[in-house]
Amino acid sequence: MTKRVVLIGHPVAHSLSGAMQQAAFDELGIDARYELWDKPPIELADAVGELRTDEFLGANVTIPHKERVVPMVDRLTEEASATGAVNTITREGKRLVGHNTDVAGFKVAIDKLVGRQKMPKQAVILGAGGGARAVVYGLIREGFQRVIVFNRHLHRGEGLVKHFARTAAHMELRAMPWHESIIESEIAKTKVLINATSIGLTSDMSPVPAELLHDELLVLDLIYAKTRLLRDAQAASATTLDGELMLLHQGAAAFTLWTGEPAPLDLMQSKLAEARAGGLRSAEGEPTGEPAVAAAE
Ligand code: NDP
Repeated sequence: MTKRVVLIGHPVAHSLSGAMQQAAFDELGIDARYELWDKPPIELADAVGELRTDEFLGANVTIPHKERVVPMVDRLTEEASATGAVNTITREGKRLVGHNTDVAGFKVAIDKLVGRQKMPKQAVILGAGGGARAVVYGLIREGFQRVIVFNRHLHRGEGLVKHFARTAAHMELRAMPWHESIIESEIAKTKVLINATSIGLTSDMSPVPAELLHDELLVLDLIYAKTRLLRDAQAASATTLDGELMLLHQGAAAFTLWTGEPAPLDLMQSKLAEARAGGLRSAEGEPTGEPAVAAAE
């Protein structure tokens, strides 16, 4: 029987995960099909319930469901529990296990961004959704001492900070209101700036004005494209990285969880590059209608 793996999100229509995961199944001779399930929040619980049968190896969960899905699984791994967000589901019999492979993907991305420099201790994060939770957890594990989270809806940023209260007890983790003057003063003090909002995903907009960016900055955009933020940061002579590496490595970790096999990374990377050249954006969003441009580095 052909096994099924599904990506549950809203929207999912232009996923890149399908291209890389299906190629990986085929390469290893695994009889499985990767499907896209566009499910609005109201249909999420039923969709997750369907995964409990033998037909399914598991699922990916994406925007906007990563936090909402947490109470719908039977067990959480350490990363999923620590972040309060699930991006991958596996099955143990009829029981569902929630994982967070964004944490592993982020680790590869932050290491690449920082390169040979000493790991900085301060960061500004824009956004407080499921992706931001993996970022915050990753920075805590890297030994960051001051992390400031800006979110459009302050209460969500505060909820994130509360969730990490114990894990971050030794450091300063704060949510701040989305006011340009406050963002400006925090960016002036920091070395690492990470966009974990979806601003720039479906339109050519940046979450922050270009004038706030400076040449000392290391800028990571979780979005898998050369966004306006990354172009502005490059113009300011900052170091930049887009979300490709994180997407690749979270996908590779998920593949191994479903199949028990090492992921064919080179093949998955080339399938991502191919899909990207074809004008698609990340698994977490829709295309702008224009071809996406090459990875920002
Ligand atoms: P969520 O839906 O959980 O969170 C979305 C975030 O974007 C929230 O902080 C939200 O703020 C903010 N946001 C959305 N629209 C606006 C707006 N117009 N103005 C200000 N803030 C806005 O999504 P995820 O956290 O799962 O994903 C967020 C982004 O990160 C996506 O672009 C996704 O593609 C990317 N991502 C990439 C990964 C990768 O592997 N490369 C992995 C995970 C995520 P508010 O709470 O106020 O609504």
